Amino acid sequence: MNWFIDAHEDLAWNMACFGRDYSRSAFQTRRTEQGTLIPAYTGDTMLGWPEYNQAKVALIFGTLFVTPARPGRIDPLDTQYYASPAEANRLAWNQLGSYRRLCEQKPHAFRLIGTQTELTLHLTNWLDNPPKENGSGYLPVGLIPLMEGAEGILSLDELPRWWDAGLRIIGPAWAGTRFCGGTHEPGPLTTEGKALLNAMAELGFILDLSHMDAAAAFQALESYEGIIIASHANASRLVQAYSGNRLLDDDLIRAMFERDVVIGTVPFNNFLKADWGKSGGRQTISLSMLADQIDYLCQMAGDAAHVGIGTDFDGGFGLQSSPKELDSIADLPKLLPFLSAKGYAQSQLEAIAHGNFLRVLQSALPR
Ligand SMILES: [Zn+2]
Repeated sequence: MNWFIDAHEDLAWNMACFGRDYSRSAFQTRRTEQGTLIPAYTGDTMLGWPEYNQAKVALIFGTLFVTPARPGRIDPLDTQYYASPAEANRLAWNQLGSYRRLCEQKPHAFRLIGTQTELTLHLTNWLDNPPKENGSGYLPVGLIPLMEGAEGILSLDELPRWWDAGLRIIGPAWAGTRFCGGTHEPGPLTTEGKALLNAMAELGFILDLSHMDAAAAFQALESYEGIIIASHANASRLVQAYSGNRLLDDDLIRAMFERDVVIGTVPFNNFLKADWGKSGGRQTISLSMLADQIDYLCQMAGDAAHVGIGTDFDGGFGLQSSPKELDSIADLPKLLPFLSAKGYAQSQLEAIAHGNFLRVLQSALPR
């Protein structure tokens, strides 16, 4: 069955900033937000519980994302800015709490997954009784917390508490942090960053390289003793008019595949064609370009075992910046025919849709 793992979604940030209720339909949320400032600020939502079920997205990595305060970047609609590690810490704990509350209050819609036992039970449920096309028998979506930008980790002594509370994946950077260089803010791992990675590996955290500057990412690939992913990143080589340090160049991709890294490819228009806004708009961006990204990475890996999907929905963008075939996440399966047309077999489609990230989870999650 073509079910999906989506390795990167920013639910908690949207819940905190805009009060989005992801147990509702994405279309209901859009109607609720009509006439507010939200759609113009962050785009129309792509996510909702019915739409996850329609696409058979059984499992997501849900981020804890807080925004570093930087000159010129403050927006009043974003309530998740931090000016100090202590503020980042408070906000990140609140976001993790919001996932726990979501799963407690809407157990029909979302379920926290932290162990192999929980993962197996959850997926057995999905595979034995998959949701029907006609809308009957919708199932809860599994949610694994992922910290995007680790400034909120106050000290290494605190790391076990994060683990015990259900955090399983950490990306040290978004912008630069005290741990390493990040997007728009290059730099290597710091001494504190190296210590963080050692402590993470000891507890069994998955390391997310996304947003790490290449200098830091290369160091992490050499030194990290645990399992590594890139939850949401594309190959820069294919992205017309792209510049910056957010996407992956070929040298870094090669080093990642040597370490068995799985990369979540992103259907965000800016990461498919950087100048799409000026050169034709959303109607010129197709899921075929995401299929091109996937194919490029699979060709580099020499197999279909190292690529997955990390949509980054609703990560500061929405419908307006997504490929034309996507009206919501319900349309994610429309990607697969583009891969079939390139010659990918059913077993390879399943690996890309869920199997590769599932393999990561099956090696990384505790019993
Ligand atoms: Zn991100």
